[in-house]
Amino acid sequence: MEFLPLFHNLRGSRVLVVGGGEIALRKSRLLADAGAVLRVVAPAIEPQLCALIDSSGGEQVLRGYEEADLQGCVLIIAATDDEPLNAQVSADAHRRCVPVNVVDAPALCSVIFPAIVDRSPLVIAVSSGGDAPVLARLIRAKLETWIPSTYGQLAGLAARFRAQVKGLFPDVQQRRAFWEDVFQGPIADRQLAGQGAEAERLLLAKINGEATLATGEVYLVGAGPGDPDLLTFRALRLMQQADVVLYDRLVAPAILELCRRDAERIYVGKRRADHAVPQDQINQQLVDLAKQGKRVVRLKGGDPFIFGRGGEEIEELAAHGIPFQVVPGITAASGCAAYAGIPLTHRDYAQSVRFVTGHLKDGTSNLPWSDLVAPAQTLVFYMGLVGLPIICEQLIRHGRSADTPAALIQQGTTTNQRVFTGTLGNLATLVAEHAVHAPTLVIVGEVVLLREKLAWFEGAQAEV
Ligand code: SAH
Repeated sequence: MEFLPLFHNLRGSRVLVVGGGEIALRKSRLLADAGAVLRVVAPAIEPQLCALIDSSGGEQVLRGYEEADLQGCVLIIAATDDEPLNAQVSADAHRRCVPVNVVDAPALCSVIFPAIVDRSPLVIAVSSGGDAPVLARLIRAKLETWIPSTYGQLAGLAARFRAQVKGLFPDVQQRRAFWEDVFQGPIADRQLAGQGAEAERLLLAKINGEATLATGEVYLVGAGPGDPDLLTFRALRLMQQADVVLYDRLVAPAILELCRRDAERIYVGKRRADHAVPQDQINQQLVDLAKQGKRVVRLKGGDPFIFGRGGEEIEELAAHGIPFQVVPGITAASGCAAYAGIPLTHRDYAQSVRFVTGHLKDGTSNLPWSDLVAPAQTLVFYMGLVGLPIICEQLIRHGRSADTPAALIQQGTTTNQRVFTGTLGNLATLVAEHAVHAPTLVIVGEVVLLREKLAWFEGAQAEV
């Protein structure tokens, strides 16, 4: 090990920064975050750094560096572009046995700055010993995405009860088991979901030895339109800790793959005979599984609250007092429009966008056709393939021009994406011509024309 990682308590201690520019500012920000009192020495100091020095209760020394500036400092940073000066600062610090960091010159350093993931009080430091700082930063970026931003609050919760738990379990093994349970179970789930008070209540109950009901939890998770890259961090995290996953037809296999390996997977979509599991049966199944203490992910295509019946499923959970969380997903309209190069609104063409169900009850009766033909709006039809001839015909009959541009996007955002553009007048024939099948989204409005310029994603086939 080239460098030993230690975490430095700088609160209230004086740190010397030699240099008054951009790099000095960057280092000074970290130092100030850690509570250091800054002494900055440079002939000129940039205004933002001046403000930082003042707020740290430090001092600006507007002249060249002198060795006496090291006096009383516990850490020295050389951040100038003058190499001989940096070397001199390093030598002076080494002579006095004060830790020194010279920016971008590992050979002159006794301490180096790691790449930092700050989830205070939890802090992660990554270092390549100065050999490959970019690599350290890339690892940091991975950690940033992997560790929820609320993780620090979890550590904060533990800190508040640390002494109490220590008193309760003098045995280290027992204590460790207690905290492992807390950090991997429902208490952590609550805290990470932003329900701090509930997390605290459960933790207190656990400390007091009260048996809380071993109820599980249901996560209603939006899986997005198909491309696994469009999942949210939270969706992925919950998918990786689920005991059971209920999914339907719209959820792509590549997304299901990302669930915990040993999670039980239950398909509740349409079966071969084309009969979906009835909704009330799904609702009941969610309740039953949660009552068995399981953590259940209900994976939904797109966003669970947009034509997803997510509301109905959690109503049932709420009625049974089962805890749940809802994780939004990218809805088909956003995903397909983006990947087809069709902005849903545009200052010149559409001031609003409407998401409409294309599932027609009794033929035509359930859609407000005269509202739908208002100008300067984009219409997005979900589930519109079967009713497409009627939808186009009704829009034209109620006054939208047959020349209105329109698009069909099949399996949007996936490598199988196919896009066909035409007009209200010929859209239905395109479906038959190209054997377009579900899931397909229909976009109607002038914005469709922008695709000509803005298409960027290559799906299964080129533009038709
Ligand atoms: N909750 C989902 C919508 C469910 S309704 C969401 O927010 O996206 C199902 C309809 O969504 C399908 O009939 C189709 O019109 C549309 N859809 C979903 N995913 C799609 C995709 N990848 N490409 C095209 N349309 C899609």
